[in-house]
Amino acid sequence: MSTEKDIIKMPPGVEGPGFFATSLDKAVGLARANSLWPLPFATSCCGIEFMATMGSNYDLARFGSERISFSPRQADVLLVAGTIAKKMGPVVKQVYLQMAEPRWVIAIGACASSGGIFDTYSVLQGIDKVIPVDVYVPGCPPRPEQIIDGVMKVQELAKNETRDRRNSAEYKALLATYGID
Ligand code: SF4
Repeated sequence: MSTEKDIIKMPPGVEGPGFFATSLDKAVGLARANSLWPLPFATSCCGIEFMATMGSNYDLARFGSERISFSPRQADVLLVAGTIAKKMGPVVKQVYLQMAEPRWVIAIGACASSGGIFDTYSVLQGIDKVIPVDVYVPGCPPRPEQIIDGVMKVQELAKNETRDRRNSAEYKALLATYGID
């Protein structure tokens, strides 16, 4: 059992209760990055890999993302996993529009990223045709480790994002290219 006399003396100049210096942006970024609520938009095989990512072997909860949100207004990250037919494009966009800022998007797998092997008249050749994408996860299908890597990339984006980025002219211009006000 340790006693007070066992506690190592602080070096001169740093004694006392101490303090923690940071900026508000960094504190907010840290909180956001470690509590990203995912909305899985899974349409086919890649969705199964996402299910594995949520399971106990890979356990996305370790990253603060165990709270799956099927309501867009309570979600932070849209994970599109699977083939998106052109008819589904407007639905993906509708879900994206219902999410509150700041929101991020991950395209999981070749289909969501580029249409994958389905270079056909009916398949959207990448969800970035209808919404902006922050992270692309390659693979057909990607392994859960890759999906986790994608989530960690979004964590980095969230950590380093300034509070006024979403009001910036650059971000508004990006949304305008998708016809979003
Ligand atoms: S990328 Fe491959 S595994 Fe993923 S949805 Fe497309 S065909 Fe299926």
